Amino acid sequence: MPNGKKNNERNSPVPYSWCHARGCLHEIRHDKLFCVEHWRQLPYPMQLSLVDFYTVGQDTGDAKALPRWYEIVTCVTNHLSFMEKQCARQKS
Ligand SMILES: [Zn+2]
Repeated sequence: MPNGKKNNERNSPVPYSWCHARGCLHEIRHDKLFCVEHWRQLPYPMQLSLVDFYTVGQDTGDAKALPRWYEIVTCVTNHLSFMEKQCARQKS
């Protein structure tokens, strides 16, 4: 962990996690999937799919995520990775 703190060492009752975009080290609330920067890079239909297939309680272990939701996460994560590689190529 970049800041050396563990989730249970925080004063906030909200557990924290890390952005799921590959290589991103932004800390996020546990009930989020991506940091704001990566979330905003997603096309609206992808954002909508993540929200639509989200099951309340899946992030706390109270409910099981749908298999389709994992498929969408993989698709979205691949999209972000592809877009970042494209941007890196254009800059070089
Ligand atoms: Zn991120």
